Amino acid sequence: MFQPLPQYPDHPALEEEVLAWWDAESVFGRLRERNRGGPRFSFMDGPITANNPMGAHHCWGRTLKDVFQRYKALRGFDQRYQNGFDCQGLWVEVGVERDLGLNSKREIEEYGLAEFAERCKERVAEYGEIITQQSRRLGMWMDWDNDYYTFSDTNIEYIWRFLKECHERGWLYKGHRSVEWCPRCGTSLSQHELINSYAELTHPSLYVRFPLRGRKGESLVVWTTTPWTLPANVAAAVKPDAEYGVTEGGDWWAVERNPDATFVRRVRGDELVGLEYEGPFDSLPAQQGVVHPVIPWDDVALTEGTGIVHIAPGCGAEDFELSRVHDLPVLMPINEAGRFYEPYGEFEGRSTEDVEGTIVVELERRNLLVEAGSIIHRYPICWRCATPLVFRIADDWMIRADEIRQPMLDANATVEWTPDFYSKRMDDWLRNMGDWNISRRRYFGLPLPFYPCDSCGQLTVVGSLEELRERATGGLEQLKELHRPWIDEVPIRCDCGAELRRVPEVGDAWLDAGIVPFSTLGWQNPEWKRGGYANGAAAGLTDADLPDHAYWEKWYPADWVSEMREQIRLWFYSQSFMSVTLTGRSPYRSVLTYEKLLDEHGREMHRSWGNAIDAAEALQNIGADVIRFMFCEHVPSQNLKFGYGPADEIKRRLLTFWNSVKFFVDYANVAGFRPGPETPGELQPLDVWLLERTEQLLAELTEAYERYWTPAVMRSFDSFVDDLSNWYIRRSRRRFWNGDEVALWTLWHALVRSLQSVSPVMPFLAEFLWRRLRAEDAPESVFLAPWPEPRDRDESLLEEVAEVRRVVELGRQARGDAGLKLRQPLRRLVVQGAGPAQRHADEIADELRVKEVEFGPVEAMELRVKPNLPLLGPKLGKELGSVRAALEAGEFEQLEGGGVRVNGHDLSAEEVLVERSARQGWALAEDESLTVAVATELDEELRREGRVFELIHRLNTMRKEAGLALTDRIRVTLPESDADLLQHADWIKEEVLAIEVATGSVSEPQIAKVQAAT
Ligand SMILES: [Zn+2]
Ligand SMILES: [Zn+2]
Repeated sequence: MFQPLPQYPDHPALEEEVLAWWDAESVFGRLRERNRGGPRFSFMDGPITANNPMGAHHCWGRTLKDVFQRYKALRGFDQRYQNGFDCQGLWVEVGVERDLGLNSKREIEEYGLAEFAERCKERVAEYGEIITQQSRRLGMWMDWDNDYYTFSDTNIEYIWRFLKECHERGWLYKGHRSVEWCPRCGTSLSQHELINSYAELTHPSLYVRFPLRGRKGESLVVWTTTPWTLPANVAAAVKPDAEYGVTEGGDWWAVERNPDATFVRRVRGDELVGLEYEGPFDSLPAQQGVVHPVIPWDDVALTEGTGIVHIAPGCGAEDFELSRVHDLPVLMPINEAGRFYEPYGEFEGRSTEDVEGTIVVELERRNLLVEAGSIIHRYPICWRCATPLVFRIADDWMIRADEIRQPMLDANATVEWTPDFYSKRMDDWLRNMGDWNISRRRYFGLPLPFYPCDSCGQLTVVGSLEELRERATGGLEQLKELHRPWIDEVPIRCDCGAELRRVPEVGDAWLDAGIVPFSTLGWQNPEWKRGGYANGAAAGLTDADLPDHAYWEKWYPADWVSEMREQIRLWFYSQSFMSVTLTGRSPYRSVLTYEKLLDEHGREMHRSWGNAIDAAEALQNIGADVIRFMFCEHVPSQNLKFGYGPADEIKRRLLTFWNSVKFFVDYANVAGFRPGPETPGELQPLDVWLLERTEQLLAELTEAYERYWTPAVMRSFDSFVDDLSNWYIRRSRRRFWNGDEVALWTLWHALVRSLQSVSPVMPFLAEFLWRRLRAEDAPESVFLAPWPEPRDRDESLLEEVAEVRRVVELGRQARGDAGLKLRQPLRRLVVQGAGPAQRHADEIADELRVKEVEFGPVEAMELRVKPNLPLLGPKLGKELGSVRAALEAGEFEQLEGGGVRVNGHDLSAEEVLVERSARQGWALAEDESLTVAVATELDEELRREGRVFELIHRLNTMRKEAGLALTDRIRVTLPESDADLLQHADWIKEEVLAIEVATGSVSEPQIAKVQAAT
């Protein structure tokens, strides 16, 4: 007896049941044990930031990771299953700041760095646990007690080692440069943090006069959207070869930028170069002694503004570059918190936004304001806290990228990307990458091990904890972990004897994640250390070991990694940068990447927009299998629309498979069927076909998994389920009613193999059904059974039946177009273009309810040919009229290749427009090679048979609604108006399991269960 299935699957409930069973039976542990020592599949998990619960978008990547790890496990591969958490840096800091209600670096310092670090660690522990629970619920099988946490001392030491290597190669430098800066976070952002982080913002748009010295009444007019930069102005740039003009009022503009103005005099830009002007805020102490020249700049844009650009080198990257070329002073007006420094008079201590009003009023008062308005433009914002960024000059620690660029490109050439065009995206990023800005002026992050010496000028980079201990002059006793503030209490000795302090900066979080192919695998570690990864801040959170170098040799590089596309400039990049530096090789052999998750209407998901769906909610309401199905079906190079609507659609489709299994279980139980290893009797042709079709599914799925392409997995599975349900089962119903063991065995075999093959995608459903269907001697779990290796197939049989199914599909379309229900029998069907399907005329007739099937030319088709006028007009000239008339009258001959011969002209396929339509009394459908025509005319007999089919359907529905068992017999009473149907009484009886069909005084058909004889 197979355990009966409910009418509909309750996905969340059955998943909880399976999860509990997996735990109770240690299925994952047994699977790992089975595969131990097998061939290796090395997957490296990109760390998820342990800073929030999972969002629906995290489920996408984690589904793909799990699908391929499960697939490889089914095929016997030994795997590591180590999950990673990203634990330090701005994400976590900003989260903690929010929780504590802190809103500036000063407030953090007042709170205390030690306490702050503790809060950060607590947050990581809390969300690490939540993410673990949610990932397990998603069905992700990982070694959850063995996670790596990037804030462990071991991870930090490995980064130190990498930084020391960079220093030894001469790549490390402190750059004085203009950087984009978040005034709230109080730190610069690096190139990879800026992409896509923009918002539409409204800013002032000011046209401002800079009065020229020695040219009374004449002024340059500049345009700015950042008024706060005006107090730091030092120059104005013009385009040397552009034309400038001065208006009657004395205002200089690029002529092109003010086409309606009347200019009294015009000059080339280079004639203005060298003039001097009065700066807008010359009276500020900061401006004392600053001369304001007009400088040349070829890049002055003539597409916006006035063609004269206000230059403030302390407030813009290009301005800063110009200051080097023209030896301009660099005035830096704002501090780390974005507030004005003291020499800026009345602006001191105020924010950039706050001074805008004052500046406008002041310019107006001095008649320097031409026009004040506002502008909405795309403006960079902090990716973490959404504060608009400003430019500042900062000293940041940088790693030079020019020497590593080509080796990284070479390494990328060895990587197989899926989809493959992402390889080029990676190349583009590498070709354009600037030097890596690795420093952040923050607190809870990787402490940069940089110790500059003022006495001898040498920079010491500490490469390990051991080296730190050797050089330390004190403070080791309080060094509980390699984080601020403790690390800052450990001074070291310089080679020259001076005592050195660490720089205050911490590192870019992408260093933390980029080092994991080394730190987690024990690169160059002489001896395996138990729990060697669970140190520093990670102590107590994991049991992870620090393996030895031999282990690294085994598992590096990763065979496969998978993260979303934006990781090209983040993790894929930082990992590759560090790996190519340390080993000259790519850290991964193949990559699967995917795009963004949007809401079901195609909008980005944001908590603040109320359209974000978090993972817990989705898993609880939809269930993991349906979510996994949705992600797997999606082509990863396109954004995915996620929501309850699309999920319902998938549930509906999954029901077809469920119903097939339920159908089997119900009939197998009626027949008392138990599956054995071999078919219990002679296979019928349809059985042979289904077995071949199942092998085809296995071959297609295996091929798709091998190339990391789940859309092909889902497409093949869908089409198989359709064949299974809408062909095999439909066409074999009668055999199941009769308890035919061969049909039951064949269906059972197909179901078991297909659910095995799709188990990596839908592990819960597959397990749930496997446990009900498996043969007694089969493993208890679908994941403990070996992968069903496909065998060679009879391709010609598969093609033959595929063609039959296409004929039937076209026949249905034709019927549908003519408004004829499938229950209405028809007289004739003509099929043109069929090959092996001709051997299946009876099945086609039966499926399409036609009495007669013919194979041959479809004469019921009318060809209407019209001239393609743009081509034929010029060619035929005056003869066009007669040709057109002949075509209309049908007086033409068809030529090979789609052309026609008419009135002695041979016209090519391009020169004519061909329309096909059905003649009166026929309906047509066609695809590339097949044309199917059905006769639509109905006579008395056909109508009556149509009514019988309707009646049978109705009676069977009534049986179901009355809750009758499959074997219950009934009596049928029909209204007198249906008396003519009694000539088909035997047919009706057989189809509805009736022992009697009669008419009576009823207005609607009625059924009554026949009670068993007592
Ligand atoms: Zn910020
Ligand atoms: Zn020194």
